[in-house]
Amino acid sequence: MIADTIWPEFLNIVREEVGSRVIETWFKAVIFCGWDASTKTAYLKAPNPFVKDWLTTHYTPLFERHLGRLLHEHHIKILFLQTDQPEAASAHAGNAPLRSETASIFNSNAISTVGKNSSEAIVPSKVPLTIKPAVHSVAKSTSNQANLRSHQYKFSNFVVGPHNSLAYAAALAIAEKPGKLYNPFFIYGRSGLGKTHLLHAIGNAIKETNKNCRIVYQSADRFVNEFINAIRFDKVYQFESKYKDADLLLVDDIQFLSNKEQTQEAFFHIFNMLHQAQKQIVFTSDSLPRDIAGLAERMRSRLESGLVTDISLPTLETKIAIIKKKAEALNEIITDEVADYVASVIISNVRELEGALIRVFAFASLTNQQLTLELAQKVLARTKDTKGPAIDLQKIGAHVAKHFDYSLQEIRSAKRDKELTLARHIAIYLMKQHTNHSLREIGKFLQRKDHSTILHAIDKVEERKKHDAAFLHLLQQLEHQIMS
Ligand code: ADP
Ligand code: MG
Repeated sequence: MIADTIWPEFLNIVREEVGSRVIETWFKAVIFCGWDASTKTAYLKAPNPFVKDWLTTHYTPLFERHLGRLLHEHHIKILFLQTDQPEAASAHAGNAPLRSETASIFNSNAISTVGKNSSEAIVPSKVPLTIKPAVHSVAKSTSNQANLRSHQYKFSNFVVGPHNSLAYAAALAIAEKPGKLYNPFFIYGRSGLGKTHLLHAIGNAIKETNKNCRIVYQSADRFVNEFINAIRFDKVYQFESKYKDADLLLVDDIQFLSNKEQTQEAFFHIFNMLHQAQKQIVFTSDSLPRDIAGLAERMRSRLESGLVTDISLPTLETKIAIIKKKAEALNEIITDEVADYVASVIISNVRELEGALIRVFAFASLTNQQLTLELAQKVLARTKDTKGPAIDLQKIGAHVAKHFDYSLQEIRSAKRDKELTLARHIAIYLMKQHTNHSLREIGKFLQRKDHSTILHAIDKVEERKKHDAAFLHLLQQLEHQIMS
């Protein structure tokens, strides 16, 4: 049977092109139903209109090319058969009602509107949610506190220093009066600086005072996966009700919604409902909303609409305080001398600081030695050699952008006015100098199609450096700031 061999072979071929994740989430949901040689038509079947729409919008050329090749025909037609739902076939036309489960999330019109609706008013969608009969509610009541890590992350074991005091104070206030003060609350900062800790601390504190509060914690990348699976397995209603019934929604690493248009759409809707009902929503992210690429304008404005606070790099004193707190929690004793040393080796990242501390304790205990400065030095010697501050494209881009008073978004844009081009060139140059990324990767990060533009930028900077002392000074100054 042609269907038995063609489809698996097709999947194998396109796996190379689109990656396993896309195959598993989208293509594997499809059934190859047959091939009509007389009309040169391949018949496929998707589990629901959404999968069908997604595949036809994004992958029609891919179907045509590879299935065509496997079927030895140059020009083939791809036809998705109607799914079991009566409305499914007409849903493709745009105006037809989707099944009520999907309709509630997608009722706010366009699905692929990232970046286009900048003027959209900040009002919740007017279309009411579809209320499903009670039988469906079984699946949603899994737990009141979905995914909350209960013990580790609390306010009481969070060390407050100048770098996080504002975020801490706001988090504490929110835990006392959820939904009343700053909603949403948006915490951003580099990796390993305590965002997730603070997010859970809010959840845990509220849980303590209000046992019935329905708290949902989710990281945005899991949210994306959950959403895709909900679509694929027709569980959109359960997915949605898990979130819309929350009293407190904690979303970690919202930057992962970047370029996920459909998920943003779904999230947008959930956000509006909760926000309107004055349910507290807290986000964390590695950057400011405006620096998250591929975020629909209306999403961005929602994220920025409450309080936005950063967590910056801890000072030496705070690092020492954190070390002492962690040692205490581990029931270990650490001298000031060793604490100072560990704090000075690890430049900024608290997660790495914790890791280093645990290594030091473990080594002392395993070799039955006193934890002296020499021992700590021995254990962490390699850390110091091999690890400078982790500098990434994002950081350099954001720093240079800020220096020139632009957003990272603008650096990545196609705009070409003089000052912006200069900022972009400098960013590219520093990215090449201070990371291990290839020209291609830098190009991709900056949304450039062709990496020869990257090369051109580097040449320009190299050239100007040679004869423009002020320019050279600026470069050095930026380098210094980025490295420290
Ligand atoms: P992020 O989410 O910003 O990447 P995390 O919240 O996961 O960072 O923090 C990394 C680790 O560092 C966690 O184990 C956390 O408990 C710890 N940590 C970070 N900041 C602090 C702090 N101010 N006090 C105590 N522990 C901290
Ligand atoms: Mg985190």
